Amino acid sequence: MSLLITNIGSLVTNDPALGEGPLGLLADAAVVVDGERIAWVGPAAAAPAADERYDAAGRALLPGFVDSHAHLVFAGDRTAEFNARMSGQAYTAGGIRTTVAATRAATDAELDANVTRFLAEALRQGTTTVECKSGYGLTVADEARALRIAAAHTPETTYLGAHVVAPEFADDPAGYVDLVTGEMLDACAPHARWVDVFCERGAFDGDQARAVLTAGAKRGLTPRVHANQLSYGPGVQLAVELGAASADHCTHLTDEDVAALAGSGTVATLLPGAEFSTRAAYPNARRLLDAGATVALSTDCNPGSSFTTSMAFCVAVAVREMAMTPDEAVHAATEGGARALRRTDVGRVTPGGRADLLLLDAPSHVHLAYRPGVPLTAAVWRAGVRAL
Ligand SMILES: [Zn+2]
Repeated sequence: MSLLITNIGSLVTNDPALGEGPLGLLADAAVVVDGERIAWVGPAAAAPAADERYDAAGRALLPGFVDSHAHLVFAGDRTAEFNARMSGQAYTAGGIRTTVAATRAATDAELDANVTRFLAEALRQGTTTVECKSGYGLTVADEARALRIAAAHTPETTYLGAHVVAPEFADDPAGYVDLVTGEMLDACAPHARWVDVFCERGAFDGDQARAVLTAGAKRGLTPRVHANQLSYGPGVQLAVELGAASADHCTHLTDEDVAALAGSGTVATLLPGAEFSTRAAYPNARRLLDAGATVALSTDCNPGSSFTTSMAFCVAVAVREMAMTPDEAVHAATEGGARALRRTDVGRVTPGGRADLLLLDAPSHVHLAYRPGVPLTAAVWRAGVRAL
């Protein structure tokens, strides 16, 4: 069956060849979906016939959001920690261990139900692709279990055994790195596409991060790095050197870090939900964009430092607080996320691509920032199927 979506007031294609500017914007547009793919994009007046017709009534159509950084396999929550932090305490990496204890104690069904719930929540807000990390198990069995559960929902699974040092190894971090690069990797690699490490004081230093990423790469996992979130450090340079798909957070960057990202294929993934929820200074998106780096926006959805599944929220914050234009923020939340996952079939609305589409209850994508906190989802198609 083919579907003609017509009378689109404003269409974001993310293909400059199809329309105006970097977003490839088209007014009075139409899209034809055939099966799970986009078959045609162009002016509504020139659209070919299709089996079915959907009238967008002048509203804006975008690629579904690509959330390239999320931690969804966990149990429990950290309301008390958030409440304390908002009452004046500083965020440290150690709070992760609270979630580790709750996650280990949960059943497979409980963890799967949580992932299902968060993905449904994200979908209602227009997210059609989600990356999902392990990292709250920190034993061989619990990390492998997290990835098995995640892999049932998304192909974008990331082995993050090196989230923090497991509590059992508090006095032997080198022993934990040996486990992460050895037996745990063996158990997790079959269920993962990516390998990640939290390169930060209180988590893993540059040498440990390098060991984790190179071991993962040897097993066919492509690196991505939690880099330079809480302090300056070696994470970004390591990500670029190892050809990581993405350096995530990028909150504390030297000029050398910015230059390295701009001169590389490594995407700078900014996670404003983390700064919002820890009341910290935001990363400087303007500096990265002006240097020529590719920027992605993601939720970093996790119970400790950014418990949001809303890409629209991240777009609004990035525009208001990180000096991104609405066009740049929407690009980063769609095409940027796709690049961070090295995907060319999502994050854009182009012939041959996957028909992942978000129709807004608004005439323009700018409303995502202009109308913060307002549920603007009118309809969502995922792989050509109406999901909402
Ligand atoms: Zn993260």
